[in-house]
Amino acid sequence: MDHFIYRERKLYCEDTPVRELAEKYGTPLFVYSKATLLHHFGQLQSAFAPANPLLCYSVKTNGNIHLCRLMAERGSGFDVTSGGELYRALQAGGTGDKIVYAGVGKTDPEIRMALDNGVFLFNVESEEELHNLGKVAASMGKVAGAALRVNPDLPPKTHAKTDTSVKGVKFGLDIETVLDVGRGILGNAGVRVIGLHMHLGSPILKTEPYAMGAAKGLALIDALREQGHPISVLNMGGGFGIHYRKQEAQPAQAFAEVILPAVEKANCRLVLEPGRFIVGNAGILVSRVLFTKETGGKHYLIQDAAMNDLIRPTLYGSFHRIWPAEPAVGLPAPPEDYELAIPDTFPQDVVGPVCESGDFLAQARSLPRLKRDDLVVTFSAGAYGMAMSSNYNSRPRAAEVLVDGASHRLIRHRETYEDLVRPEVEV
Ligand SMILES: *Cc1c(COP(=O)(O)O)cnc(C)c1O
Repeated sequence: MDHFIYRERKLYCEDTPVRELAEKYGTPLFVYSKATLLHHFGQLQSAFAPANPLLCYSVKTNGNIHLCRLMAERGSGFDVTSGGELYRALQAGGTGDKIVYAGVGKTDPEIRMALDNGVFLFNVESEEELHNLGKVAASMGKVAGAALRVNPDLPPKTHAKTDTSVKGVKFGLDIETVLDVGRGILGNAGVRVIGLHMHLGSPILKTEPYAMGAAKGLALIDALREQGHPISVLNMGGGFGIHYRKQEAQPAQAFAEVILPAVEKANCRLVLEPGRFIVGNAGILVSRVLFTKETGGKHYLIQDAAMNDLIRPTLYGSFHRIWPAEPAVGLPAPPEDYELAIPDTFPQDVVGPVCESGDFLAQARSLPRLKRDDLVVTFSAGAYGMAMSSNYNSRPRAAEVLVDGASHRLIRHRETYEDLVRPEVEV
């Protein structure tokens, strides 16, 4: 469900025409729908309500502080993976008692910053890290709350670059070693192991991995408690998939059905770290056609958004629906299912101005004939879009705008050329 809807062949974000936004703020432009964002957060809140969970919005997915602020206002906590993300979460109104901190390489200054701000749970990814956490905390006269992040060693479930629970990835503790690590930290004055954490990967379109992961987690929780650890938190991470190519994702309810029974059996507080599920379909990337070109039998649609704005297609081979903001008479709204033939279209590579052959938003994509100045929309760009953007080719980063019904406001200005060189000039 989202609030990007075609009315009389014009795309609206809620009650605002996308053309109006493109004209006012320029392109490329990230447009977010407040109603869609809050709808998805609300779906998770109600699906998991029986467990009274702590939902920690994953800041890395889209860390814009205005979006994070909306999350905080609705009672969300935050999942952070760096000092910078912690800073963002705090700026947005987050408080340490609702912040969890993951990542394989937390530095001592980051750990101190987190402890100073009362971060309640460190998701710990190696034995060495766990002992270092204890050392840093003890040196500050504090006790760090920790969850052991386990790699539950599940079959592959998503793209290899984003699967975080298969054997050999850098994340978490090998499942066979968790109990040895637990034994080794007993009696440490600087750290209290209060939880078990897993984040399986992303995006995950099925519920089975969560059921399998939770089952393995339950056994570990029992064993850790037997060792004397006061385990009170089960953190099942994020990873819930969304509709990209077609209606392919599971509703929040389906994930709740497999996770809630495990939480009850574990007698734990549930923590979740959703990102993509909340913000993915709440954002689009709007661009403008510059030129079209044909070579070697291929058709190129050259528009002003590029891999530096949205790197997912070239990084992961990800699929985003792409369609004109104002399709010509006779054309439908964007196809719901790209596995079916789409009339009045032909295959086009949607590319940007960046000097890389890998600079594309889509390849051989069924699109109608478009011309210079037409507006193009890349859907489901709210997650890992702006967050992974860069200044490659000295391209100023895109602007971001938040729509609320018929009103809209800039939540990040388009970078200027001065912004690009400022850290070099002001040294
Ligand atoms: C990336 C990440 C998440 C969020 O994943 P989504 O697929 O966006 O929900 C949650 N937890 C951890 C530890 C992560 O690395």
